[in-house]
Amino acid sequence: MKTEYDVVIIGAGMGGLSCGTLLAKKGLRVLICEQSSKPGGYCVNFKRHGFTFTPAVHYLNEFGPQGQMEEAFQLLGLPPEIEFCPQDPQRRIITPYFQLTLSTDIDRFEGDLSRLFPKERLSIHAYIEEWKRLVKIIEDLPLRSLEVISLKEKFHLLYKGMLKGPQIFRYRGKTAEEVLNSFFKDPLLKYLLSFGARKGSSILTCASPIMWAIKGNFYYIKDKGVEALPQLFLRQYKAYGGEISFNALVKKIVIEKGQAQGVQIEGGEEIQSGYVISNGDSHATFHSLIGYDLLPDRFVRELQKKEISAPTFTLYAGVDLDLAQMGFDGALVHYYPAMSKNPWEEKGVEGFDIEKEKMAIRMDSIKNPMLAPRGKHTVAIAAFTPYALFTDGAKISPRYAEIKEEIAQKIMGVTEKVISGLSSHAMVRHASTPLTYERETLNMHGATMGWYLSAKEFSRIRSQKTPIAHLYQAGHWTFPGGGIPMVILSGINAAKLVFKSMKKSTINSFAGNMT
Ligand SMILES: Cc1cc2nc3c(=O)[nH]c(=O)nc-3n(C[C@H](O)[C@H](O)[C@H](O)COP(=O)(O)OP(=O)(O)OC[C@H]3O[C@@H](n4cnc5c(N)ncnc54)[C@H](O)[C@@H]3O)c2cc1C
Repeated sequence: MKTEYDVVIIGAGMGGLSCGTLLAKKGLRVLICEQSSKPGGYCVNFKRHGFTFTPAVHYLNEFGPQGQMEEAFQLLGLPPEIEFCPQDPQRRIITPYFQLTLSTDIDRFEGDLSRLFPKERLSIHAYIEEWKRLVKIIEDLPLRSLEVISLKEKFHLLYKGMLKGPQIFRYRGKTAEEVLNSFFKDPLLKYLLSFGARKGSSILTCASPIMWAIKGNFYYIKDKGVEALPQLFLRQYKAYGGEISFNALVKKIVIEKGQAQGVQIEGGEEIQSGYVISNGDSHATFHSLIGYDLLPDRFVRELQKKEISAPTFTLYAGVDLDLAQMGFDGALVHYYPAMSKNPWEEKGVEGFDIEKEKMAIRMDSIKNPMLAPRGKHTVAIAAFTPYALFTDGAKISPRYAEIKEEIAQKIMGVTEKVISGLSSHAMVRHASTPLTYERETLNMHGATMGWYLSAKEFSRIRSQKTPIAHLYQAGHWTFPGGGIPMVILSGINAAKLVFKSMKKSTINSFAGNMT
């Protein structure tokens, strides 16, 4: 079989692009097949009547000085073209009981929280100190999978593990609920610090805002917004000789004798390659592109047990309101129209009420005026919303358009309490349901960050290797997890797995020739 490419990558999300950039930089012949007409996956913008909206990624961590991305950008040879601007405060919280501003500076974060919950002052201090210790340990770990780190790093890890293991493993398998209960009594404080974690969620799911404050590491991108990132990666990838096919939906991963040999594109074209990297949804990769019959039973059983992360509904509005004049500064607003005393209460689709859900309100054009016509602004309001609300069994609900409009109107109505005049000043309105996210990126049910991170999941490492030889994964469905910095690292890891495997094959064939 003639190999056309060394590596074919399925998907031009940030995970696929970072992987391709490193592979092409090292001189490999690489092709990225992307089903949509542009790069970036979730990391994109779209335009409506002069307004530029961002459906998913808004904020970035690890992009500041000494952040993990500095080293990654150097490794990939990316020019320092993008201006990453620090964002402080990281969010404003509005609830029926209190209002609070959370800083990206941990001392201010702690001070403001303690003033609001004075009886919990000591517990807040203890909780934050504990996170400071954990962040120090995590920072010292290589965010590379065990499969690609050097022997020296493995020894370092073993040493660190013996020294610091008890501190980290204390939280192994612990839910957010268990950890927050062990520190705090006030139900409102626990609700606030759960930051949207569900019953059974790993404590890690509610740690991000505290970790960002400890590291002082929270950024947004000026001018073009987040789309500048995939554009920069793609330009550099092409400069290294990498190729990309848009509107190229991969329907099948070609496997022979247990090894990936290439992909088949919709329409039947087959592309041969030495390696395949999937940046797409893990479920689709194994279920549809390979087929469970080619995979070990145990692996399939594990896969079938996994849950996906919750999807969102986002309402976008282009408004002729002077939001800055109204007192907004561009910080993310988390609005809780209702706050139950029990954040761990399980609500099925039946009990779902969008008017009680937490709304993440973003007004990007305040900081980034290029995103809206002069004197006008963009508003995007996102809330976790069940996928099943829009479906009828395996099909799209016949009431899809009606339900979508109903939810959009309710979100608009609820947000009026934060942005007065929103409905009457919306010149442009658009909405994305979980099905829209799924259609645009092929993430199953519009999953926000790949697999759901349960406390059980925390104790398992999501391998980038697969049971199929020469097939690896890159992106938020695999190690180290979701969010832009993590998927960039994941792509780099996947490229390193290819280098490692190629090196091994060269040594083996050399040894074979010698015998
Ligand atoms: C509403 C929302 C808000 C978010 N906010 C933030 C944030 O503020 N900051 C942050 O860091 N992260 C945020 N995230 C998470 C972040 O967007 C993701 O973790 C990250 O973008 C995932 O990147 P990826 O490369 O793994 O995959 P994706 O971005 O999903 O890209 C996968 C690509 O593969 C393509 N593809 C899939 N299957 C195929 C196939 N069969 N053939 C060809 N192409 C295929 C898709 O079209 C897509 O382009 C948010 C996510 C959502 C949904």
